Amino acid sequence: GGICLEGNPVETPPLEILEKGKDFINTYFKSLQGAKRPLNEVKVVLVGEGGSGKTSLVKRFFKEPFYENEPQTHGIVIKDMKVKVNEKDLIVHFWDFGGQEIMHATHQFFLSLRSIYLLVLDGRREDKTEYWLKHIESFGGDSPVIIVINKCDENPSFDVNRKWLIEKYKNIKAFYKVSCKNGYGTEDLISKVFEELSKLDYLKVMWPEAWFNVKFKIEELTCDYISHEDYLMICRDEKIYDNESQIALLGFIHHLGVALHFDEIGLKDTSVINPRWVTGGVYAILNSEILSKNQGILCLSYLEDILDPIIYPRDKHHYIIELMKKFELCYSLDGNNILVPDLL
Ligand code: GDP
Ligand code: MG
Repeated sequence: GGICLEGNPVETPPLEILEKGKDFINTYFKSLQGAKRPLNEVKVVLVGEGGSGKTSLVKRFFKEPFYENEPQTHGIVIKDMKVKVNEKDLIVHFWDFGGQEIMHATHQFFLSLRSIYLLVLDGRREDKTEYWLKHIESFGGDSPVIIVINKCDENPSFDVNRKWLIEKYKNIKAFYKVSCKNGYGTEDLISKVFEELSKLDYLKVMWPEAWFNVKFKIEELTCDYISHEDYLMICRDEKIYDNESQIALLGFIHHLGVALHFDEIGLKDTSVINPRWVTGGVYAILNSEILSKNQGILCLSYLEDILDPIIYPRDKHHYIIELMKKFELCYSLDGNNILVPDLL
């Protein structure tokens, strides 16, 4: 028989632990014997076509002024907010993805299961609403989705077929018509987002104090990647000695998007990596002129021109290419050339 976890919500091990089996579950409970508290940390992921108003909406959350000529977002911008909802202190990470290509290409690096999605539509034109809803389904699991119809100052009559969409996509929680320009509807939307956040089950997941300390140390790193041995050292400094906990915690940190770790790419010197670093590198490659000039074929020696040599030294090129291969963003043609298929 399985382990019965019902009726004991606070002590339910998180999915990441459950998936890994009995040894992990035991270790998890053992590590919780000391001081512990709920993680209370979530992601808000903004998706939608470039120019629909994602960045302008994030600014509304942060009470920053609207800007007519908001520049296009490059890569991803992650902004953090502390907020009190229903007596709970939450940390909310806003993930604002840049252009459409980077979204397609790199969203899959981040397991965004512990998230809430805001699908931002441009109310001035017909949008690929369903296209994005499918994208959310494939990467966000059953994360809640709120549909934001923006720019209603310019086209107040635009709407989507709400009834039909709700039938088809069960995770849609609400629709909001807003204007990030004049502020119409934004306050209601923001309240709704916080309300949905506070309902998320995994806010109840308990974390031992030592895990928080490791996460904090990784957040504070000034370098873009550390070796696996360095990661283990951080764990040991916090008295996390057993292998199961070390691995489980790394999985958690990856799911939260604090740092990324890909088991399959067995490069020990590049184990725990800054998400902005890797997306920045992939973005530079996908958008490079050489690539489009050569119909998607890239000679690896060109990476030295494409990537900033200080941020992406030569010995890291291999890692970025391996990652792109893993996510089928490129294929090896031979030892020296890769093919990047048309992403759209
Ligand atoms: P993103 O690419 O999805 O991040 O979109 P931005 O937030 O950068 O917005 C794209 C453009 O639309 C910018 O020029 C914004 O000033 C403009 N914009 C954003 N929200 C609104 C809105 O509610 N009304 C109008 N009229 N323009 C908006
Ligand atoms: Mg933007």
